[in-house]
Amino acid sequence: ENLTATTDVDWTILVELDKKHFLHPTSSIKEQQKEGPALIFTEGNGIYLKDTDGKEYIDGLSSLWNVNIGHGREELGKVSMEQISKLGFSSTFATFSHEPAIRLAAKIAEITPEGLNTTFFTSGGSESNDTAFKLVRHYWKLRGKPEKKKIVSRRKSYHGVAMGATSATGLKPFRDFTTSLAPDFYYVDSNLEEFKAFIQKEGAETIAAFISEPIQGTGGVHLPPQDYFKEIKAICEQYNILFIADEVITGFGRTGTYFGVEQFGIVPDLMSVAKGITSGYAALGGVIISSKIHNDLIELSDGLFMHGYTYSGHPTACAIALKNIEIIEREGLVNNSKVMGEEMLDGFKWLQQEHEIIGEVRGLGLMGAIEIVKDKKTNERFNEPFAPKIVSESLKRGLIHRGVVYEGADTLIFAPPLIIDKYGINKMINILNEAIGTVNRECSV
Ligand code: PLP
Repeated sequence: ENLTATTDVDWTILVELDKKHFLHPTSSIKEQQKEGPALIFTEGNGIYLKDTDGKEYIDGLSSLWNVNIGHGREELGKVSMEQISKLGFSSTFATFSHEPAIRLAAKIAEITPEGLNTTFFTSGGSESNDTAFKLVRHYWKLRGKPEKKKIVSRRKSYHGVAMGATSATGLKPFRDFTTSLAPDFYYVDSNLEEFKAFIQKEGAETIAAFISEPIQGTGGVHLPPQDYFKEIKAICEQYNILFIADEVITGFGRTGTYFGVEQFGIVPDLMSVAKGITSGYAALGGVIISSKIHNDLIELSDGLFMHGYTYSGHPTACAIALKNIEIIEREGLVNNSKVMGEEMLDGFKWLQQEHEIIGEVRGLGLMGAIEIVKDKKTNERFNEPFAPKIVSESLKRGLIHRGVVYEGADTLIFAPPLIIDKYGINKMINILNEAIGTVNRECSV
């Protein structure tokens, strides 16, 4: 096989090469060795992905919650070609800069909540969170409080897989993958009392920051309790604890507002972004900091800012992000996410009435979840989770979505591209109706 060829591909050979040479992220290695990749995608268009057999699938999770503007956007191909041809790469270290990064940083200041005005660029969400953790500790050190270094996150949270990001992740299976984690990370449940008790026990003078996703994504699309964030933010202010919003999934329109925090009426001190910033067309992330933190950094800086990635502010990624944001605004995708999100939730409620194994359904914008239960009244779960079976029945029928089974969950989660219309939502709901019905029938015989 000519490995650099792009035509006349023999897929059976590629399956063998995949098994032998490709270690897949967040995967079951045993399953890959037995079956090879379940699907090899070749094309994408709108809400659809196409595989090697030409079969089309609705991309019900926007791939990894990131392809917000949908697949196959030629405008992004054009902007990439133009930028690569003009300036494929130049550094932003020290005093060097370039136009796409400058314009993107300014555009981000325009669209993020008031007070968040300065961006440090990364290549993705994990790097954004690791940057945020280092930055808040650096900040407190400059303010003469080097002992303020503990980072508090919530159980069921997901913040990525870099060393700091893994250590902040509340989902235990991700932490258990390795042995030593970074020090000074702590977890609390999603209630105010535990957070307050934690502060009392450890002392506010040892706590640098609290980090949270506005809506927990990977953990199973969990919405926060009513007024939770307003109260948490007030406690953080009272005790001089910085609030980091992890908007890696919820940013750029996913929840029906530009950023997730807007749903809860709070402005964080730092915000991590990635994914939807380019809709996945290039690897880019960022940490956006408040003017207060930025000004303090300027005033108190005691030397160089010793943190930066080679690809911080990659020109092509930034040019793609700018065009992606232009499309989000031009096509009104933030509002479409709100309107279609309501449509999707109505669909889930209809499914809930049709199927006795559906418990709670929930969602905000185009982020939603369906709980699978044995008993609607008691919320008792089945001994073996049903979600993986439903996911595979959906796949047969042309819908990709995810099942969450970590830590006793049995949950279906969804996040279709923000361009989805009523027809697309109906198609998703119809496929789910059949998939859930089939699994329920098979399991009750
Ligand atoms: N934070 C959140 C909330 C995420 O959902 C993710 C990825 O799913 C990350 C951080 C990590 O981002 P990345 O995979 O780009 O490193």
